[in-house]
Parts: sequence; C-alpha cells; structure tokens
Amino acid sequence: TDQQNPVNLSHALFDRFVLAGTCKDVRQNFSELCRHLQLDAQDYRHFYGKLKEKLNYWNAKELWEKIDKRAAHPDYDQGKPCAKTKCLVLGAGPCGLRTAIELALLGAQVVLLEKRTSFSRNNVLHLWPYTIRDLRNLGAKKFYGKFCSGSLDHISIRQLQLILLKLALILGVEVHTGVTYNGLVEPQASGTGWRALLLPDSHPASSYQFDVFISAGGGRFVPDGFKRKELRGKLAIGITANFVNHRTKAEAQVPEISGVARIYNQKFFRDLQTEMGIDLENIVYYKDDTHYFVMTAKKNSLLKKGVIMQDNANVEQLLAPANVNGEALLNYARDAAEFSTGRKLPNLEFATNHNAEADVAMFDFTCMHRAEYSSMVMERKGKKLLIGLVGDCLVEPFWPLGTGIARGFLAAFDTAWMVRSWGKGTAHMQVLAERESVYQLLSQTTPENTSKNHAAYSIDPSTRYPNVNMSSIKPIQVKHLYNVEGHLNTNKSSPKNLGKASLRRVADLLNWCQKHTAWCKRVKVKDLSQSWRSGLALCALIQHFRPKLIDVSTLDEKNAVYNNQVAFDILQKEFGIAPIMPASDFASSKEIDQLSVVLYLTQVHNAFSETPK
Ligand code: FAD
Repeated sequence: TDQQNPVNLSHALFDRFVLAGTCKDVRQNFSELCRHLQLDAQDYRHFYGKLKEKLNYWNAKELWEKIDKRAAHPDYDQGKPCAKTKCLVLGAGPCGLRTAIELALLGAQVVLLEKRTSFSRNNVLHLWPYTIRDLRNLGAKKFYGKFCSGSLDHISIRQLQLILLKLALILGVEVHTGVTYNGLVEPQASGTGWRALLLPDSHPASSYQFDVFISAGGGRFVPDGFKRKELRGKLAIGITANFVNHRTKAEAQVPEISGVARIYNQKFFRDLQTEMGIDLENIVYYKDDTHYFVMTAKKNSLLKKGVIMQDNANVEQLLAPANVNGEALLNYARDAAEFSTGRKLPNLEFATNHNAEADVAMFDFTCMHRAEYSSMVMERKGKKLLIGLVGDCLVEPFWPLGTGIARGFLAAFDTAWMVRSWGKGTAHMQVLAERESVYQLLSQTTPENTSKNHAAYSIDPSTRYPNVNMSSIKPIQVKHLYNVEGHLNTNKSSPKNLGKASLRRVADLLNWCQKHTAWCKRVKVKDLSQSWRSGLALCALIQHFRPKLIDVSTLDEKNAVYNNQVAFDILQKEFGIAPIMPASDFASSKEIDQLSVVLYLTQVHNAFSETPK
C-alpha cells in the first residue's frame, strides 16, 4: 500500500497536486506533499530545490526542466537581485499570481493574499500568442492537459488561476486564501517595518514585514494614494453567458467566433435584429470548459426585450439588479448564442456560477478606469516601501477585445523588472521614472506592435517593446510619486506637488510651447492648462513640426472636442502618445489638471525633439 511504500505515496501526492481542479484541492494536496516529504514551505529560498531533490520522480522531470530553463535566465541572476527583498502581493487573480512567480524567480520572499477560498470564474480569457508561449514554457500543459491544444487561444479564468497557483507554490510563494487585505500599517518607532492590516486580524501574515507591495486586487481595488483616470466612452453594456460543454461531436463542430465586430459583418447583425430583436455591437464565442459568449448589447433592444425594465440616463441605475429582469436576460443571452452559432449548438443549458445560478451576467463598460501612474514609493520612519499596480487595477480591460491578460502579463513583467531594480539598490526615483516610462506604452500594446520574437521575451521591457525608451520620463517628473512622511491620500497631482527643480522644467516646457506656437496668431499660450482647452494650441504645435499633418486655419476654436480629438489622434498614431483623457472630457472639464498637461506635453516635446521632421 501507499503507507508501506512512501516513495510511491509522494509520487501519488505530487500527481494529485498537479491535476487538482479546485483551489482547495491544490492547497490541500500541496500541504500533504510538503508534510510527506518533510519540506518546510516557508523555506522559500530552498523550497523548489529541495522539492526537486526529494521527489525524484520521472513524471516531474519535464516540469523541472521547464522551470529550470526559465530560472536560468540571466535577468534572474540566480535569485540574487531580490535576495533581500520581501514582497506582499494582493490578489490571486491571474496577474497577482503571474507577478508573484516572477518575484520568486528573482529571489524575493513572496507572500500572496487572497480573500476568496475558491476559483469560480468560468469566463474565458483570450490569449495573445506570447502568453500562450509563456505559459507553455512554464509547463501549463502538465497542469492542464487541454491547455491551448490545436489552435485554441483562450482559457477559462479559473483554469489559468489553477495553473499559476500550482507554479507559485512550487516556487516557494507563500499563499494565503480566505484573508482580506484592509490597508497598510505604517512602520512603528519601535523599528518594525511596513505591514498589512488583515481580516481576520489575528492572521499570521499580519506580522509579515515587507518593502514591496504589489496590488493585483482587480478592477475595483486601487490602494490608497493612487489616482485613477476615468475613461468615459459611449454607453456599452456587456453580457457574458456560459453554457455547459458536453463535449459531444456535434458541439465540437460548431466554429468559434473570435470577434464579429459590427462593421465587418453588417448582414449578420441585421439578421439577428430582424429575426430575434437582438441588437448587438459585437459578439465573441469560445469553446472552452464551457461554451462562452461575450457580447455588447444596445440599450434599446434590451429595453424592448424587457431585459432592462426602465430606461435611465444613469448607467448604474439602468443596470441595477432591481431594474433587470433575470429571466429575460437569460432568454436574450440564449437567443443570441443560438442564432450566432447557426442553431448548431444543441440543447443549450446554462452552466452555473459560484452561487449555483445560471452563469449569465451583465456589465457596464461605459466607464473604464486606468491608474494615472503605476508605481509609488512611500517612506515613513526612514523605511521605504515600493508599491506597484498590476492587472485590472492598473488598466481595466474591455473584455470583448480580449486584451486583459496579455496586457496584464506585460505589466506583471514590467513590475517584476521594477522590483529587480529596487532589489539591486537603484535609486528609488530612477526606479519610479523607468516604471512610468514603460507604463506609458501599455495601453497601446497590440500583438502587432510588440516584439514578434516571443522566445526572447523576459521581464526586461526591451525584449518586448521595440524602441522602448526607459528614460522618456525623468526622475524629476515623478517626484509626486515619492510620498515621504506625509499622509496617505494626500498624493494629489497638483502643481504644488511639483518640486522646485521640476517647476523650472515646467517653465522650460512653457517657453518651448510658446516659441513654437508663436507663428499662429489665433493661439496664445499663457499657461499649461487653460490655454490648451480649445485644442488649437496643440494643433498649432503639431503643424509647426509636421506641417503636412494638419492645417490649423481649417479649424474652428469653438469645436474644442473635435480639435483635441484630431490632435490626440495624430500624436497617438504618429508617436504612440496616449491621449491625456477623452477629447470630450478634456474640452469640458471644469479644471484642467496641469500635471496631466505637463506630462502629456513633455512626451510631445520629446517626440518632436527626438524624431526628424
Ligand atoms: P482579478 O482576476 O480580478 O483578481 C483579483 C483578485 O484579488 C481576486 O481574486 C480578488 O478576490 C482579490 N482581492 C480583491 N480585493 C482583495 C482584498 N482586499 N483582499 C484580498 N484579496 C482581494 N475578462 C475577459 O477578458 N473576459 C471575461 O469574460 C471576463 N469576465 C470577468 C468576470 C468577472 C466577474 C471579473 C471580476 C473579471 C472578468 N474579466 C474578464 C476580467 C479578467 O478576469 C481579468 O482581466 C483577469 O483576471 C486579470 O485580472 P487581475 O489578476 O488583475 O484581477
């Protein structure tokens, strides 16, 4: 029996751990494996090496080879860069876990906190080719045999979490589930360092002291001190629906729909509306553990079909549970799924969510958020804490576009690179400036404009972003991200937070703008805020450097939204500079935030100074 043959028991325990299909089972099998092999999971530095040594199991060999290959990358320098770094990661979503793995490879001690005790999201994530390769190279197929077989380029959220959780545990990450993070505890005069306030407060991890805090708490979670930008677009109502995949032959034959945008297939959407009364902007269908659909529905058709009961200009109230007819929503989602698959999916039956209810949900994508900056350093009682954001709390993705995980992992790697610099003792302003320089690129990334050499991808941003300029933002420009002996939440990006030296830079920037717009009589640049509202100054600046791109004489000062949009579009297209905010918001905002304008115009200045006409 197993009891008599301890070697085989450890192999069986390892197999069970590798194949475990729930968060609870993964954790339980892992504990048993550790107990059986007499391994101390807290000995993070040696854990992986000892596990390999003690297990000595042919079935694990392929996995070890993969992990060893990754760990041997020169960026990790055998775990030396972060040998003294102690990290707290918040959130066991895919991005928190992916970051934790990188931090462990860098040699850091990593403690990860997750409030949930189960992974239950059926919804499916689209993977860019580099993410598939990244996960394959980490042994994803070993943990989940169906991982991206054939031409599949997606995975359910929970399967991805399971794969990453197993890897994190193997690499010595200390994972705690069922514990909620409630804020930071500042260092005490007695000499203790930064700690976290947890619920339950008696949790052992509340005594853990760390110098790096990574927040990966998802879309709604942004730690104190960080500011978010709201990107308000036109009304966009997303619906997700999961149906049971019985894995029959008939089901296998139904083709997936990897994004039928309205403009590309007008007939399909017209027929859907005529025949079913369902009016969609787009729809995606992936065949995964479930049959998964995500669509963006037009409000009027939701009202007509009785899904939304009362119209309301306020989206929150419009989609409030009391204003939604659950039964009608199920019918709407099922009808859309049936029609879009040519009624070839037989007997669609809803899969269930964590509440054992039909897994259909409606979400508001009208207003998306992104963090204004991705990092910060706080210092209290002489103890510095580096804070980084990753995943949805950094940039909220629009699900039907399927960019979430790809950009999430890019940010996880960029963040690991930042922590590496921190661990190596780089000056903190430099660390922040480099991180923010890289962050500027994130929202523009696509599979096309990122490096095609996926085999060479590492945490070093230059392996992934062609022509990345790690010093496009200078340390002096991120002074506001260094919060010393102040109070949390006082970190407003107002001009008074710009230091003396940066005020000098602001004056230089203003001079530069005045000089190059002086030719245009209709423009008077007096400051780095209000003078930019009508958009004419920005257009004049562009015309000065690139006369072929724009003609200010054709623009009307009163069309502020249009003017700004034209300028933002040119700068984004030509130089990859992300707009400060939607042109409509910029033109109508009560007070124009000088710091945002300064950061934006600094990029414009750099772009025109660095590239030939
Ligand atoms: P998440 O996956 O959201 O993980 C954050 C984790 O942090 C969670 O596990 C949460 O429990 C934990 N957490 C939060 N606050 C605390 C706290 N105070 N203490 C402890 N733990 C905390 N994307 C798509 O592309 N398609 C979809 O259909 C889709 N459906 C989604 C459905 C839901 C319900 C949600 C929430 C997200 C969905 N997404 C979808 C987004 C996608 O899940 C994310 O882009 C992806 O998981 C990466 O996110 P993340 O790791 O940053 O955060």
